[in-house]
Amino acid sequence: MFNRRKFLQVSSLGLSAFSLSGFTSKNKGNKPIVISTWDAGLRANKAAWEILRNNGRALDAVEQGVMVTENEINCCVGLGANPDRDGHVTLDACIMDEHANCGSVAFLERIKHPIQVARKVMENTPHVFLVGEGAQQFALSQGFVLEKEGLSEDAERTYKEWLKKSEYKPIINIENKQQQTAWAPTRFDDGTWNHDTIGMIAMDAAGNLSGSCTTSGMGFKMRGRVGDSPIIGAGLFVDNEVGAAVATGQGEDIIRIGGSHAVVELMRQGYAPEDACKKVVERLLKVKGDKAKDIQAAIIAINKNGEYGAYCLQKGFNYSVCTADDKNILLNGKNLI
Ligand code: ASP
Repeated sequence: MFNRRKFLQVSSLGLSAFSLSGFTSKNKGNKPIVISTWDAGLRANKAAWEILRNNGRALDAVEQGVMVTENEINCCVGLGANPDRDGHVTLDACIMDEHANCGSVAFLERIKHPIQVARKVMENTPHVFLVGEGAQQFALSQGFVLEKEGLSEDAERTYKEWLKKSEYKPIINIENKQQQTAWAPTRFDDGTWNHDTIGMIAMDAAGNLSGSCTTSGMGFKMRGRVGDSPIIGAGLFVDNEVGAAVATGQGEDIIRIGGSHAVVELMRQGYAPEDACKKVVERLLKVKGDKAKDIQAAIIAINKNGEYGAYCLQKGFNYSVCTADDKNILLNGKNLI
């Protein structure tokens, strides 16, 4: 079982530094660089870094990177993740490259690597977005295999627990044990909770940007619900002249403010990544008003100079940064409330 605290104690990434720190690092202007949401990003970054340090393309790095997380059965993303209310795991993902090519899938079932399917949508169809049965059919036509139906051991247990009350209160990503366990049991025995997404953005040695985002969405969501993660402009946005941003948290609200696109546009106006993320989280706060305390949302960004930053609504968001000096570190995002 993935346990954040244990992971922090035992992880050996083979990279030279690894720390959880209170400071939000900005700019060293490094390239290549890869950053990703949450602490699962440390493992994902490591795979991305192998590509980046060998002068590989950012697009390959962000695809291979998040596949590590999709593979982690009993983790937060992919087929091992929490199901919807009806007991089915449905997956969403998107990817975007330096030429503004993009591909998305949503409500995809029984396919192990939705991020790879999203890339195939981008490269092998004239479309951007395929959903549900059609997305699955397309995946099969591209050689993907249908995985067995069913839940991972932990998801099964968590779902059974949830069924006892079947409360539908889609509040996600608040780092507060009491609030969290009140509406949906978390699978982690240290009280860490159901953030079910990894978003990754990278700049390669050639200075090109790409991004990816993959999720099982909100645990115990309504069947058919899709959040921000596969939506270009909301969950992810890349503009190779400016920068890239990726979001996590309450998808409905990130969609409302066009989160990732807004961050990139602010960077275009000259805002540093952290300041751009902060401004967008402030917009969210304004939109949500008093209800903001019930949700979490966070955005991470890098700009064309390899500067990076993040901001979140509430305390408890962290993100993983791997830079050219071979450091893979975990940073706390600054919070607004
Ligand atoms: N943003 C995702 C969604 O709403 C959830 C998450 O980031 O954990 O589906």
